Amino acid sequence: MDDLMLTIIDDEITTVDDQSNDLKKWKIAIIDDDQGVHDVTKLALSGVKILGRKIEFISALSGEEGRLLLKDNPDCAVILLDVVMETSDAGLELADKIRNELLMDNVQIILRTGQPGYSPEEEIISRYEINDYKTKNELTRDKLFTSIATAIRSYNHLRALDESKKGLRNVIEASASLMKERSVHDFASGVLQQINALFNLSSQGIFCVSQSPSDGPIELIDESDSQYFVVATSPSFHDFYGKDLQDISNSHEVEIAQNTLINKQNQIQENLCSLYLSTPSGWEGVVVINSPLSLNEVDEELLKLFCLNISLGLENAKFFTHLNNAAFYDEVTGLYNRTGFIEKSSEILKSAKSSMALFIVDIDYFHEIIESLGFEFGNMVLNAVTSSLNRDFLSDGIIARLHSDVFALLLPDTNWHYRDITKECSKPFMIEGNSLRLGVTVGEATCDLSTETFDIELLLRHAEIALKVAKEHQRGVGQLFESKFEDDKRAHLDILADLRNGIANEELFLVLQPKVSMTEGYVVGYEALIRWQHPIKGLISPNAFIPVAEQSGLYFDIDMYVFRKALALIAENPAITKPISVNVSANSLHHSDFISELKKIIAEKDSDISQIEIEITENALVRSDMAIQHLRELKALGFVLCLDDFGAGYSSLSYLLKLPLDVIKIDRSFVTHIEKGAKALFVLEGMLQICQNLSMRVVVEGVETQEQADILIALNADIAQGFFYFKPLTIEEVLIKAL
Ligand code: C2E
Ligand code: CA
Ligand code: CA
Repeated sequence: MDDLMLTIIDDEITTVDDQSNDLKKWKIAIIDDDQGVHDVTKLALSGVKILGRKIEFISALSGEEGRLLLKDNPDCAVILLDVVMETSDAGLELADKIRNELLMDNVQIILRTGQPGYSPEEEIISRYEINDYKTKNELTRDKLFTSIATAIRSYNHLRALDESKKGLRNVIEASASLMKERSVHDFASGVLQQINALFNLSSQGIFCVSQSPSDGPIELIDESDSQYFVVATSPSFHDFYGKDLQDISNSHEVEIAQNTLINKQNQIQENLCSLYLSTPSGWEGVVVINSPLSLNEVDEELLKLFCLNISLGLENAKFFTHLNNAAFYDEVTGLYNRTGFIEKSSEILKSAKSSMALFIVDIDYFHEIIESLGFEFGNMVLNAVTSSLNRDFLSDGIIARLHSDVFALLLPDTNWHYRDITKECSKPFMIEGNSLRLGVTVGEATCDLSTETFDIELLLRHAEIALKVAKEHQRGVGQLFESKFEDDKRAHLDILADLRNGIANEELFLVLQPKVSMTEGYVVGYEALIRWQHPIKGLISPNAFIPVAEQSGLYFDIDMYVFRKALALIAENPAITKPISVNVSANSLHHSDFISELKKIIAEKDSDISQIEIEITENALVRSDMAIQHLRELKALGFVLCLDDFGAGYSSLSYLLKLPLDVIKIDRSFVTHIEKGAKALFVLEGMLQICQNLSMRVVVEGVETQEQADILIALNADIAQGFFYFKPLTIEEVLIKAL
């Protein structure tokens, strides 16, 4: 402790009791070749106390002896130095060495000369920094005491200034290294260490700050300013770490911390010292250490400066934590965001040697929820899902909200499967007093880190692909990733790239499948079906590329291409006089440019559209005002409208039958089943009945056998399209055998 000298220079210190200052006597060196001078001086000053401290003499009888003596006593306060010793200026030579060789800057040199009237030249006084000079006979007790007391005061001042400078340097160094700490926890731990280094203590302490440290997502939950959390401790207070001050009882350290925060100022008690911190943007903190750090031992200014510096450091750490949070945590739920999730999960994947399961959880119909109940409600739903994920998985897993209504969950070594997750997340929960139940769809991907290395991006991609597959099949359930999904996806991407070229290079062409009257036996019309003659892969069926086009936006180009080709076909083949129906994808019917683009194509060659019919699937017509509007416009343009794949969807019959449709195509699945059972037959019969009552024309798709045809004829169905009559034909084939 005596390293850090006290800078409070105050004569009142003389009241401090003697014993405690035993070690702190002022050292006075007498360097004189006259032993008598030694004796007189000691006698004169015996028992004297200056600034409350006794005096200790050390002696040397020559300049050289003096040099060695001082070398061993660098804490010497005053030197009474004879000028003439072994040489006529041995004293001056020694003075030079004291300042320039021994580097004793603070020691006070009082030069003593034997000759009355001799005064050293001014130049010498300043060169050797001589503080005073006296003739030997001036050394009466009183005079001696006065000059020694003055010298000791000066020495003490200089020494204190020196210590203060050193302390200041330490504070600056300590704060500079603390400023580098970016998390509140690291910063606070640093402060606890630096206090000990700075004040030469071995204290144990705690560091608390207002609000939670924001170092992790859960801790963000409580934002109320009145709470103070312990963000760092020395080892002996480890149990307090992470706790709210209010929740810690029976601790003097915590009591004094609370006191400090209430009074907003440092509190010094016997064996406890508590420092108050407040940052420019209103964060408050308190550092408590269990060491006696009485204020009269430490420079108060230095302590203030230190507190100011750690307050700034705290602000700095808080700022970084805030930025860090924005970059890594989701504001709505407090969970990790995608970046945070990837960062955190990568660490785990790098070191873990177990199996891992990653689940991506997608809330079903979340956009509909927001549309009808608003954003705030949507946020409550997100938080409810967060709570149920936290409840079940927080202790074992990493949870994140990746984006809008999509959550991710990484679980090491788990027995959970996507079915369990859907079940957990579909349990009812309360929002604003109402019990609510959500559906979720889950994509799952797994890896075994004991046998393979896996990075999080890949695992995430697998789970995302699995989710996509799950959503395409059935919402509310889930899907485990299989490697063939990725092959499918790659194949999709290849097809997409080729398809663009294929359209541009006119590799796509139309075949016609005749529709026939089963009773009369002749062709009544055709359906135009697309084919792709790929230059390398050969002939490609529409089932391999139409669904891909639907997902990419190319569907619109394809539909317009087919429409153009169908018009050209009619114009170029006057022998084909029956109507040709073209398929329009559901997405095209929703496209805002659909009608205008059709009109443009018709106008290009002033085409005749009286022979063109349009096939639309029922899912295109469900719940879209735009589609129904387009349907009416098609009708107004004079197209015959045909409802394709009827019965395959789930829409209400009565709804569909109100639309301006002319022809109903009954889905192939009904025909496939009629031979197998009475139920299909019964349904088919009913459907045919309704259509006939509404005087709609009916086409039955997928007739493959004589038996099917016979049953259909018996049910009063007439027009059929199926392999039993014709497969799709090229134009040349049509011209030969199917006019
Ligand atoms: P879709 O509109 O239901 O067309 C009927 C499909 O059933 C055609 O397959 C046809 O070859 C097939 N088919 C006809 N009779 C039978 C039968 O007796 N048994 C069986 N098993 N199948 C029969 P395709 O040509 O492979 O077309 C498949 C689907 O691709 C079409 O189903 C349609 O949704 C789509 N598609 C085909 N051409 C186009 C087009 O030009 N534009 C659009 N947007 N979609 C098209
Ligand atoms: Ca069709
Ligand atoms: Ca069909």
